[in-house]
Amino acid sequence: KPHIHLQIQISLFGEDDRLIVAKDITRLYQLEQMRRDFVSNVSHEMRTPLTVISGYLETLADNADDLPAKWRRAINTMATQSVRMETLITDLILLSRIETGEHAANDAPTNVDSLVQQVCQDARTLSGKSQHDIRFEASSQQWLDGDENQLRSAFSNLIFNAVKYTPAGGTISVSWSVDSHGGHLSVKDTGAGIDQIHIPRLTERFYRADPSRHKDTGGTGLGLAIVKHVLINHDGNLEIRSELGEGSEFICHFPAERLVTSALAAPTHQT
Ligand code: ADP
Repeated sequence: KPHIHLQIQISLFGEDDRLIVAKDITRLYQLEQMRRDFVSNVSHEMRTPLTVISGYLETLADNADDLPAKWRRAINTMATQSVRMETLITDLILLSRIETGEHAANDAPTNVDSLVQQVCQDARTLSGKSQHDIRFEASSQQWLDGDENQLRSAFSNLIFNAVKYTPAGGTISVSWSVDSHGGHLSVKDTGAGIDQIHIPRLTERFYRADPSRHKDTGGTGLGLAIVKHVLINHDGNLEIRSELGEGSEFICHFPAERLVTSALAAPTHQT
């Protein structure tokens, strides 16, 4: 039996008058579902041929010493671009998986402190010669009930973005804290910053504040869309604060119901 999807809006007037509007959004919902399935299918179908192409290009690049320079350049460019396309496909598949909410079953107590420490270590490798100062401070030892893989994707995207959009030598401060509202993972950088007009649209797929910068950063434009959907799956939300030329701060807010005291979390995690 087909489901009907309704959007219900309740407006209050004065003491006890209410206006209730119910809108049938079934068709919209179905279209959205079709779009997701389509993207997911295309991504999966493209992955195999792309892996074959990348594989051959890598072999060619490894054996290109005797070829003319012009050919070597062409092969290297193709190899780089096919790796880029693979990253894009991987992100598209990840996003469509996260969007369809295939997450519920994988929620378990997750140690935010150690997870973020690992991600910061990877970010130091990514930064390499740029030598960003990447600091992490956990003022809480509370764990988070959630999907570790999804949380890792979200935190990596934010921390790697901070590295990508901050000039060499800049500082990236990551913190995990808890208050009466819940848990907060903040990633703050001293980088380029973002103009206010872009902020509301940053989490849209492929939206970029400064398209000209993107050739060098190698991003897919899907990072913040992934972060947003991971947070939706964890009943949280993303706050973005930024000042052009000063830096940016991205904060993941998680509700208190998602927090797990580490004393309780540790045994569950081991079994
Ligand atoms: P991309 O792959 O382009 O980095 P994202 O979805 O991760 O895609 O980010 C979207 C856009 O938000 C980026 O293109 C960039 O313009 C902006 N952005 C994200 N993080 C930062 C940051 N830390 N500092 C400045 N701009 C940022």
